[in-house]
Amino acid sequence: MIKTPMIFAATSDLAGKVRGKAFPASDLEKRLKRGVGWTPTNVMITCFDAIADSPFGALGDLLLIPDEYTNVVLDFQDGGAVEQFMLGDITDLDGRPWDFCSRSLLKAALDRLKSAGGVSLMSAFEHEFQFKTGGEQPGEAYTLSGFAERRPFGEALMAALDQAGLVPDTFMKEYGANQYEVTNGPAQDHRSADQATVLREVTRMTAKRLDEQVTFTPIRDPDGVGNGVHIHISFLDENGAPATYDESGVAGMSKVTGSFIAGVLKYLESIIALTAPSDVSYLRLTPHRWSAAYNNLGFRDREASVRICPVTATDPSSIARQYNFEYRAADAAASPYLALAAIVHAGAQGIEDGLPAPNVTEEDLSVLSANELSVRGYVRLPETLEEALRRFEENKTVCGWFPAAFPAVYTAHKRGEIAFLKDKDTSARCAAYERVY
Ligand code: GLU
Ligand code: MG
Repeated sequence: MIKTPMIFAATSDLAGKVRGKAFPASDLEKRLKRGVGWTPTNVMITCFDAIADSPFGALGDLLLIPDEYTNVVLDFQDGGAVEQFMLGDITDLDGRPWDFCSRSLLKAALDRLKSAGGVSLMSAFEHEFQFKTGGEQPGEAYTLSGFAERRPFGEALMAALDQAGLVPDTFMKEYGANQYEVTNGPAQDHRSADQATVLREVTRMTAKRLDEQVTFTPIRDPDGVGNGVHIHISFLDENGAPATYDESGVAGMSKVTGSFIAGVLKYLESIIALTAPSDVSYLRLTPHRWSAAYNNLGFRDREASVRICPVTATDPSSIARQYNFEYRAADAAASPYLALAAIVHAGAQGIEDGLPAPNVTEEDLSVLSANELSVRGYVRLPETLEEALRRFEENKTVCGWFPAAFPAVYTAHKRGEIAFLKDKDTSARCAAYERVY
């Protein structure tokens, strides 16, 4: 068949969907400068295709400008099409970042972190997902046979991630039914969110090529475990040296780390609408599911919303290079850019306000009464998306981190998503989400 190879210019939007337009590869030079045309109201298209109440209507024009640095060329060598896409930024016609471009919002948050703490961010997104195809085999958690069942997929995925410029790390059979986990190496600044966006798409593409289907939905079965996205974070100082660890700090936290995490915990209830943004996300964020239900910092505790991760090194300089913490209250319904932007802003606020390092918990907070929790400075995180949206829009500090119009547009988008679900029971809601993520 004849063909003109095409490149897809993409944005990861408020729905966490990767949308865009393709152009002939021969036009690349022009498109890197001028981008492709984009429409403001597109940002109100929910994950279920319904368009939420849009303040933009039919008006306005934008440019989606691909960033060559994100170029992915993926040849599965299976006789099928070669995929090519680039992620990009949305600007207005004068080249100013658009207020609802998630990648631009993350870049602004990272700039703030640099001026507040003198550090840049290293991070990596760890992803859990489930196969929708293939029978359910009990007793397979973390097993060799569970891995072997999906070895061809795992090996194709590792090769695909490598071609896409990521550093493949591990692939394993997770605990849940048909659940697997994939990890990749860290990247600096907004590149980790680029890579998380690429990883989700490439994982889906790999599955398709093998006649399989996967879902990253936050939870498939309300009685089972969820699919988490754990964002591993560390810092580099101006000279590129590790700045996360201090031997004499609480649980090894440097001053900047302590204040950053304190900020994240302080604002967690008001940013969770951006990091766990689906209706079913709140089925996952319940106690005893190894996700996150309270705004606590755990030391190697998988029930904490922020966890200090283990290191294998014993000498201080190697510990400093390995030391990182993870934000566990995220899922793949969130654009990686928006989730990370919210976390980074909360952390930068903590640094600007000089918040002291939080205490570390190593206990089950779900046995404490509401009063005992509040005496110790903990809150139960929102239990519904609507509650999370309310805590976001009512927190003037948090809203102030974003362009003035952003909170109203974001909450309108999410309320459009909620409206779509109104006559559905829990299992129908889960089914709806697993089809779109
Ligand atoms: N599936 C859990 C979650 O929803 C995480 C399990 C783990 O610690 O890897 O976040
Ligand atoms: Mg896991």
